[in-house]
Amino acid sequence: MNTLFSQLPSIDSLLRDSAVQALTGQYGHQQVVTTLRKLQQEAREQILQQQQLPEWQVDWPQAAEQRLQAQQQSALRPVFNLTGTVLHTNLGRALLSESAVEAVACVMRSPVTLEYALDEAERGHRDRTLADLLCQLTGAEDACIVNNNAAAVLLMLAALAPGQEVVVSRGELVEIGGAFRIPDVMKQAGCQLAEVGTTNRTHLKDYRQAVGENTALLMKVHTSNYQIEGFTSAVEESDLAALGRELNVPVITDLGSGSLIDLSQYGLPAEPMPQQLIAAGVSLVSFSGDKLLGGPQAGIIVGKKTLIARLQQHPLKRALRVDKMVLAALEATLKLYLQPEKLAEQLPTLRLLTRSQADIRAQAERLLPALEKAFGEQFSLEIAACSSQIGSGSLPVDLLPGMAVTLTPRDGRGSALQQLAATLRQLAVPVIGRIQAGKLWLDLRCLQEEALFLKTIAR
Ligand SMILES: *Cc1c(COP(=O)(O)O)cnc(C)c1O
Repeated sequence: MNTLFSQLPSIDSLLRDSAVQALTGQYGHQQVVTTLRKLQQEAREQILQQQQLPEWQVDWPQAAEQRLQAQQQSALRPVFNLTGTVLHTNLGRALLSESAVEAVACVMRSPVTLEYALDEAERGHRDRTLADLLCQLTGAEDACIVNNNAAAVLLMLAALAPGQEVVVSRGELVEIGGAFRIPDVMKQAGCQLAEVGTTNRTHLKDYRQAVGENTALLMKVHTSNYQIEGFTSAVEESDLAALGRELNVPVITDLGSGSLIDLSQYGLPAEPMPQQLIAAGVSLVSFSGDKLLGGPQAGIIVGKKTLIARLQQHPLKRALRVDKMVLAALEATLKLYLQPEKLAEQLPTLRLLTRSQADIRAQAERLLPALEKAFGEQFSLEIAACSSQIGSGSLPVDLLPGMAVTLTPRDGRGSALQQLAATLRQLAVPVIGRIQAGKLWLDLRCLQEEALFLKTIAR
């Protein structure tokens, strides 16, 4: 063992090696020394445990370079999303428009008028410009922007109903995932949940009976990720808003996704629109920036000026506020909505959602030969119709007709599929597909960079 130990190079001698000196030039002395020490430590352990030298004994500089390169790689790696879910939360939801990308780069490089009004040279309000734009798009009186829609719901409850009751239908006590559950958020916000109605049916009289001395809000939650079918009844926002006006209790709605345009005009499932709820008389509506809106992660609250002012003044707003990059990306995204006829072209989310099955099929046909070449030996490949999902809490039952290339193991083994999925995840740009019914499905709806994809699978 001692002979083995004596064969390990010293850090000093390694640092005199010209290849290691090149690494020092690139990565700096400190990182290189830390990496060499780590390799040395691992080598010692290997000698102790296995009585043999590590495989990198033949080329320490190369081993160090590999480690340093791996460290250099960003933790947020670009991937090909071929899962068939357009707004995939684990893959970062909406892809932003080019105008949003440019706007973010611009505010990153330069001081900006974030809370500074040029005309009066006094401290302005950071949501101000966007609030005006949101009012124009939704017909609301004012707006407030926070970190995400979960934060928006928390802020509305904490600011408007501390220690008081909030009335919600039993059919709308939603769990979104990631521990966002309406009853828990109520508790965190210091409110008391007053449940009304039943799982399948809630009537206006249920809300009316629940309102008492201590009621601060009536709340609707969009049941975005599930549907109750059959003998059901829910109260329309306009009816609840009328009741709220009569009893002088504000009505708030957590819309979740929400779309600023009528998606049915593109043949997509209709989603409720914030402007419809504002028109129906709802006091505050909250929705996400990175779901159907197609912008950055943000929570947007629109509605009555007096209520928005209470949100802006609450200490939690300071903790939940967004930064200049989010505001820049959101402003650029919202501006696209001022020209709705160009939206399907300029907003990636809508562009992907509205791709026709014929267009995706043509792409599948273009890619099939290269995929055959890369995987044809072990797998049989086919072009097959499939169903894509909008994702991010949009109704999972609303599916979009799409096209996929499927790979079926020639030996019929499930382990070959798992192995293939793992191989695809390890490519230079990882490819994320979906295993279903004994096949690996590469749903091409979200494949934009075709040339890069071909290059990636050719390796
Ligand atoms: C998605 C969703 C949320 C959470 O929104 P985030 O922007 O992800 O924080 C809250 N409520 C509903 C109904 C949702 O669909």
